[in-house]
Amino acid sequence: MKIILLGAPGAGKGTLAANITANFDVVHISTGDLLRKNIKEGTALGLEAKAYMDKGLLVPDELVIALVKDTVGKTESFLFDGFPRTIEQAKAIDTFTDIEKVLNLNIDENLLKDRLTGRRACKACGKITHITLQNGALGCKVCGGELYQRNDDNEATVKSRMDVYNNQTAPLIEYYAKQGKLIDIDAGRDSAFVFQDAEKLLK
Ligand SMILES: [Zn+2]
Repeated sequence: MKIILLGAPGAGKGTLAANITANFDVVHISTGDLLRKNIKEGTALGLEAKAYMDKGLLVPDELVIALVKDTVGKTESFLFDGFPRTIEQAKAIDTFTDIEKVLNLNIDENLLKDRLTGRRACKACGKITHITLQNGALGCKVCGGELYQRNDDNEATVKSRMDVYNNQTAPLIEYYAKQGKLIDIDAGRDSAFVFQDAEKLLK
């Protein structure tokens, strides 16, 4: 299977990707992991990417696409998570592979905001929780450690991440809908239900 996961930050792409790879014979491809792996292995593309990163520059699109193309050429079954982010990237993918299905994690924007801004992490054990799950308790339910809000979960950052998503990535929904590949999944529910839906669609 050749699948793409689409969805705003916080819609649950990472969790769904983990559930799918645990239950299906499919390679999970995220561009961040791909970059790290190629740099670690010292491949030609990895070294090229590292030169940009060492200078504090963004790795150019063409280089990321070349890395993805290289990996896709070696596997029959993959799942993209967080890629493509733009129409240009989507068009590039279409030149070297045939995407079969695009799972779009649909979620109400206000629900998403509550999910992200209410998220807390434990300073001691790293456990991620949500203020609504604390039932008034102040400390971590696993170890009692102090909870904090991560920098990118504050209201201003969440708003700017959503704006970037809406401007750049949301047009992909239309792009894949026109190709007849888009499947909407209601992501405003527990991750187990989201996976149940995905499982039915992929079987
Ligand atoms: Zn803890």
